[in-house]
Amino acid sequence: MQDLNGKVALVTGAGSGIGKAAALKLAAAGAKVVVMSRTAEEIEATAREIEAAGGTAKAITADTSDDAKMKALVDETIQAFGRLDIVVANAGINGVWAPIDDLKPEEWDKTIAVNLRGTYLTIHHAVPHLKRGGGGSIVVIASINGTRTFTNPGATAYSVTKAGQVAMTQQLAVELGEHRIRINVICPGAIESEISDNTKQRNTEEAEVPAEFPEGDIPLTGGKPGKAEDVADAVLFLASDASRHITGTPIWLDGGQSLLR
Ligand code: NAD
Repeated sequence: MQDLNGKVALVTGAGSGIGKAAALKLAAAGAKVVVMSRTAEEIEATAREIEAAGGTAKAITADTSDDAKMKALVDETIQAFGRLDIVVANAGINGVWAPIDDLKPEEWDKTIAVNLRGTYLTIHHAVPHLKRGGGGSIVVIASINGTRTFTNPGATAYSVTKAGQVAMTQQLAVELGEHRIRINVICPGAIESEISDNTKQRNTEEAEVPAEFPEGDIPLTGGKPGKAEDVADAVLFLASDASRHITGTPIWLDGGQSLLR
């Protein structure tokens, strides 16, 4: 069991799915956790669940793409708990998946704003406090899409944000190393969550290329998606001192899915 007593964590997109599972796991390991999402109701429910299990949490509503709100989120974290050690940049949307000649500029902009600008703003506002505290761990949640998998038709904007997150992680591992700040990125495959409710697919059959893959999508599970807790365990490892010499590293967490397609 990792010990995060005395540490303060910030998890974006912690209202459901991977972010919620990660927040619960970090809190169970002893961290005080600020949980954030764009929806007050779901994020307050996450905080209540952490407190019911004996942990400490504070719920804050914000949009990852809003600079002023993201600054306020980090400021409130410091006001509440005095420091910041662990940052999980998880909030994200699939957005609109459509052929490139059909995808509207505003749809492109929305996915880039939430996923990529959002990751930048999270890290941008958190880093001064991690430096001040003498170090820390940042965990970014990307995807197999855009990093190993390019076969989800119409997912261009989404894939670009996920590739960008991996590039950002590797670039920043070099920049932040001297401040003892580690940054790593998890690239999940299919994971049970609410994300498909937030996906809009339009005419994707036009962008599809017929290809025959080996039977079964996910070798390790016979095709069954992973669980948010599977990702949360890796977040806990990367947040803790057990991963003290690991930085700038992508972890594909997909049961082998991305090696097939
Ligand atoms: P989810 O929809 O269950 O959770 C997403 C969370 O982010 C929710 O709490 C939602 O309210 C929040 N959110 C969305 N837009 C936001 C915004 N603009 N500002 C603040 N909060 C916002 O989805 P999930 O599957 O848990 O996704 C989490 C991350 O994992 C995403 O970055 C996603 O791209 C990535 N991912 C998911 C899968 C999967 O199969 N579920 C696979 C690969 C990567």
